[in-house]
Amino acid sequence: MAFKPANHIQDLQYFGEFGGVNPSISDSSTYTFLSAKTMFDTFEGNADGCYLYSRHSSPSNLYLGEALAAMEGTETATVTASGMGAITPVILQLCGAGDHVVSSRTIYGGTYAFLKNFTPRLGIETTFIDITKLDIVEAAITPNTKVLYCESVSNPLLEVADIKGLSNLAKKYNLKLVVDNTFSPLSISPITLGADIVVHSLTKFINGSSDTVGGVVCGTQELIDNLRNVNSGAAMLLGATMDSLRSASVLKNLRTLHIRMMQHSQNASYLAEKFENDGLKTVYPGLASHPSHGLFKSMMNDKYGFGGMMTIDVGTIDNANALMEMMQEHNLGYLAVSLGFYKTLFSAPGSSTSSEIPEDEQKEMGLSDGLIRFSIGLDADIERTYKMMKDCMVQLGIL
Ligand SMILES: *Cc1c(COP(=O)(O)O)cnc(C)c1O
Repeated sequence: MAFKPANHIQDLQYFGEFGGVNPSISDSSTYTFLSAKTMFDTFEGNADGCYLYSRHSSPSNLYLGEALAAMEGTETATVTASGMGAITPVILQLCGAGDHVVSSRTIYGGTYAFLKNFTPRLGIETTFIDITKLDIVEAAITPNTKVLYCESVSNPLLEVADIKGLSNLAKKYNLKLVVDNTFSPLSISPITLGADIVVHSLTKFINGSSDTVGGVVCGTQELIDNLRNVNSGAAMLLGATMDSLRSASVLKNLRTLHIRMMQHSQNASYLAEKFENDGLKTVYPGLASHPSHGLFKSMMNDKYGFGGMMTIDVGTIDNANALMEMMQEHNLGYLAVSLGFYKTLFSAPGSSTSSEIPEDEQKEMGLSDGLIRFSIGLDADIERTYKMMKDCMVQLGIL
């Protein structure tokens, strides 16, 4: 049966303390107990429904976590203060000194930097590979490998991971397949394809209003319990806790995610087709020319399309910078990193979000200087946007 993530979110029902249509926000860092015994049991994690301290859990964080677990089809989830605050504890929970990670080489710059520069200090080594080649992935697995890490749609090159194929490898070698699904919420449901753990930066499409950072880990009850363990849990002890006021606001934004994703996808798809027809080197998973178009199609849920992210290559960094500045002047979007906003956002990843990746490695993975990454907005009149963007390109001699 088809997986319907938006239904799963909508089927949850929470009321506020006084019958409010939104759940009440518990605006407290600490909680009182009538009996000292219950306080002890709660600390040990043995008193369901009781709260002790808001780094451990809070009603608002549990509501948001439950909604995101429903969206991804996992037993449960834990929300965190940022996407990196979700990714780093997962790696550290699953790996210790001597362990090994096999990771896609085209991942978010912060994740890349963490695996490349930080975890080796703790004795965790990572091999970065081309995730689209399963034979190369398999060849990189060693007896010490614990984690297979990828993004369902990669940042910034929009490579698509074959999650079923990777999951088969993970099962064969007893690894955990961790998928960052930030670029494709609702469109792709990695758990249904065999992933073990899904992480998101809530900062992007899921929250969608560019007013906060946030993250989530969706997984089994056992994993989330381990992450939250007061004695040994990486999420608990590293302390990247989301604030209750913020999780309540992210939950309200999550209510409209399905509508926003449809509009982001529709607009991006329109622009990608037009730009490609104009002769620009355009990368969008919805284009038949995308090497993984068929794969994305085979993995996607109905309705939500191929997402809001696309790239064009305008040849040189000077062209890219001039075009981005001109588009911003014409109010077609903002020269800004991040994604999932109502407004189109654009940046040149080589010199910004992927600048952690050394230049020669950027070249090797096809990340060229003239690449512009777009997070296409919710424009009500995308034909007008297209015409105005094209005008900018003509004025600059790019088209
Ligand atoms: C932004 C991003 C992250 C990091 O999330 P933060 O909320 O900035 O910590 C991780 N993965 C992907 C794919 C991202 O786009």
